[in-house]
Amino acid sequence: MLGSILSVNNGIVIRDYTKPLNGDYCSRFKYIRQKHSHNAILQKKWKQSNHTLMYLGEWHTHPEKDPHYSKQDMNNWKNLLIRSDTFSNNLLFIIGGIDRYKLWSGCRKTGEIVLLFEGEYNEDN
Ligand SMILES: [Zn+2]
Repeated sequence: MLGSILSVNNGIVIRDYTKPLNGDYCSRFKYIRQKHSHNAILQKKWKQSNHTLMYLGEWHTHPEKDPHYSKQDMNNWKNLLIRSDTFSNNLLFIIGGIDRYKLWSGCRKTGEIVLLFEGEYNEDN
């Protein structure tokens, strides 16, 4: 996911995201990103946006109604907090389930990851 940090209130706005690309491995239970192709897109958008569109975190989907992070997800997120090269102090992690989605926020300084928001897709109906 890509976005900006607002100077007024330090709010985070998600403005863009990459979808699975050719070369990604995708099955019902596993998804492995081809790192270089995603990073190339991020670099390009970072430059095109005059350095306002930065890497903000990751999204993926789960084949369960109410999504829960797996051990692997948590390990990945912790690694991303340590290794990501971005100006954002926090990273966002979204898991989309079948009925609900959840958003976690991770702090790159403390390594703490907390559930920030959860919702249903059809809340407006
Ligand atoms: Zn997962």
